[in-house]
Parts: sequence; C-alpha cells; structure tokens
Amino acid sequence: MKIQIPRGTVDIMPGESEKWQYVEHVAQEIFKRARYSEIRTPIFEHTELFQKGVGDTTDIVTKEMYTFNDRKERSMTLRPEGTASVARAYVEHKLFGQVNQPAKLFYCGPMFRYERPQKGRQRQFVQIGAEAIGVQDPAVDAEMMALALSIYQELGLKEIKLVINSLGDKTSRLAHREALIAHFKPSIHEFCSDCQTRLEKNPLRILDCKVDHAHPLIATAPSIIDFLTDESLDYYTQVKRHLDVIEVPYVEDATMVRGLDYYNHTTFEIMSESKGFGAITTLCGGGRYNGLVEELGGPASPGVGFAMSIERLLAALAAEEITLPIANHLDVFVVGVGEAVSPITLKLTLAARKAGFTAERDYLSKKVKGQFKTADRENARFVVVVGEEELAEGLIVIKDMTTGTQEKIAMSDYIATLQKKQHEGETN
Ligand code: ATP
Ligand code: MG
Repeated sequence: MKIQIPRGTVDIMPGESEKWQYVEHVAQEIFKRARYSEIRTPIFEHTELFQKGVGDTTDIVTKEMYTFNDRKERSMTLRPEGTASVARAYVEHKLFGQVNQPAKLFYCGPMFRYERPQKGRQRQFVQIGAEAIGVQDPAVDAEMMALALSIYQELGLKEIKLVINSLGDKTSRLAHREALIAHFKPSIHEFCSDCQTRLEKNPLRILDCKVDHAHPLIATAPSIIDFLTDESLDYYTQVKRHLDVIEVPYVEDATMVRGLDYYNHTTFEIMSESKGFGAITTLCGGGRYNGLVEELGGPASPGVGFAMSIERLLAALAAEEITLPIANHLDVFVVGVGEAVSPITLKLTLAARKAGFTAERDYLSKKVKGQFKTADRENARFVVVVGEEELAEGLIVIKDMTTGTQEKIAMSDYIATLQKKQHEGETN
C-alpha cells in the first residue's frame, strides 16, 4: 500500500518553497529593523502550558490539540500556537530582569491543530509571530499592529484591512460577562452544546461560535465597549490616537472576540478584502495579554503580540495576483567534452560556487549538444567548455550566452574572468 501524507498537511515542493524562503526573509528583515530578535522554542511542550496559557475553554484546548503521552507517561502537546511558549521562555530565562523592556521577540515555525482541513485551514501550518513583553504602553500596541501590517505591505498586498477592538481589563470583562449571561441564559437551549457549556465558563466564546454565528441573539448581544472602565476606555482611545498619528487606517468591530482566553485590552485582526480570497478572510490575529506571564508563574508582565500563518499570507498574495521577485538565475554551466574531463568539470563547478556564483554541470553523460541544451533551458549566463585538447594546454572556453561571444582563457584566470564578465554585464 502506498503511504500518503497525513490529512491537513502539505509537502512544500520546489517552486513553492522559494516563496516560503522569500516571505520568511522579508519578515526577518522587518523584525530586525524593529529590533525584534528570534526565539526558537520546542515544537512540543507540557500539555499544561497550553491549558493554562491558551485557556481551558478555548476551541484550541478543548478540541484541536495533538496531545500524547511520552514513554514516561507525561502528557505532551504539539504546540498549537506560539505565545504560550514565548511567555514560558520569558519566565524561564528571566527576561523580565533585563534592563531593556519590553523584550521584543519573534518566531517562525510549524503549529499543529486538529481541525477540519479546508482552504486556509490545515492541521500543520506555519506561523510568523511577534511578542513584546514587559510594558503596557499604547505605543507598543500600535507598533505591533504596524509591524504586522508592514509584512503584508512590503510583500505588495493592498487589499487588507486592520480591525481593532478592546476587551478591556478584568473589571470590564466581568461586567460584560454578567451582561452576556443575562442576555443568553433564557434562550441558551437554542444554542449548540458547546455554547451551553460556554455560558457559565466563558460566555464571550459564544460570540465566537462557528456553529451559532447566525443566531439573532449574537448580533444583539451586549457590546464590550459599553462595559469598558474609564481606564480601559482611555487606553483604547490612546491606542487609536497612536494609530491615527502613524497613519495606520483601521476599522472598529466591537463584536470581534479573539480565540484565546488570555487577551485583554487591545485585540486586532488583519483581514484580506480581496475578491479572490476564500471564505476565511482573517490573515493575522493579535492582541494584548497582560495576565499570561503571571499565569505561567512569572512576575506580572504585560504583553502584546500577533501571529499570522504563511499559508494564508501566500493565499492572499495569490488572490491579489502578486508574484514575488524570486531570483533563480544560473550564472555558470560547465560543459565537459568527453567523459575524461568529468573531474575537471566538477572542479570548475565547485570553484565557481565557492566564488559565489550559482553553478551547475551535467551528470547524465550527455553529449556536448545535450549539455548546451540544458544550459539553455536553465538560462545559464555563462557556459564554460572543458575539452581534452584545450585542457592539455591549460585552456578553457568561456561563452557569454547573452552576447554569444566566446573566449579561450587560461584555466588559472577562470574565476577572475567570470568576475570581470559578471561585473561588465552589471554595468552595461
Ligand atoms: P480561525 O478563527 O481562523 O480559526 P484563530 O482564531 O484560530 O483563527 P489564531 O489562533 O489567532 O487563529 O492564529 C493566528 C493566525 O494563524 C490566523 O489569523 C491564521 O492566519 C493562522 N491560522 C490559524 N489556524 C490556522 C490553520 N488551521 N491553518 C492555517 N492557518 C491558521
Ligand atoms: Mg482556529
């Protein structure tokens, strides 16, 4: 029987993987300029980390985790998201003790969620994310949103929008919670069984329900904005003032409830507005999580962050018909005349690579004509020809494929000649 790839996973094949590298590189450069450093945490963690750090009532923890016992019967989970691990590491490595706060961290790597696979939803997907932990300041929230947006913008996306909301502080959420319970309780039997459990545990989640999203009581539910304390409202206003001044457009959506339990104050999503995009339009989600570090045993350290999947980012690029400027040029193809020169063609290929050129040769013992065909197909800039007779005199031929001119040179001048020609090509 042929073994197939697990459902909800993909092979990222040549032709596609270059896009991934490109996107990851652009993101890394953006983070570098914003003084974010990469953190690489394990792919699996103690299950408890996510129960505590993502929340017992979330979809992620209740139904989407890949959890297994290791050989010593310890419960482990493949990470479904990155923030909990980053916060754990922040505590574990005492980053709160550093002079410079917030600690600015980014990550990029696979996440695992047992979901029903569809376009934009996989069981293994790659998230790029950032966290700024240690400071509560509206400037940090605004910078975080601008940072996430800039990744999309630098890749050329235009049809995106930023949606923001505030979930307020503990007092605001508690008051809102009571109002939600009062609102839903009389008709809770009309909702799915998940929502019935959510009512007492975490009624906010009802607003996020994928089954009952069309129930009329969802649209008329009390809005969190009406329950914000003066302090929370002031913080939200400050965040918006920062966004206004840095000219980041946004729309407000008081019904936007993010999937994770630990959010407070600012929450945001970036959505694709492109017509070609599928049903799932959220590209990126983020927000503030002031209680998380404390929840994980560290000192109270407010944080804010975002996560986006590369899958949805690439889908958005495709929907806007943006092609990434991925370089795939071949500088040098080394043609060998006769099999006897094979070691020398290999030597010249390696020497070109060592000098920084992309270089290739034939491995199929093709005739000279066939080798030239390959060089042509691969769009080689230069073809180097090694023949037995020339070789006896220490000579090789370099052909410039753009001009068609060729030159016999001493093998000892090989790299210098390539460099000179490459340089001439650039300045012409
Ligand atoms: P959704 O409502 O689409 O399930 P979520 O609230 O679960 O999203 P987050 O946990 O906030 O999403 O993750 C942040 C981002 O990660 C999402 O905006 C999306 O780009 C991406 N993402 C989440 N789940 C998946 C998945 N299963 N496959 C691909 N990308 C995903
Ligand atoms: Mg989800």
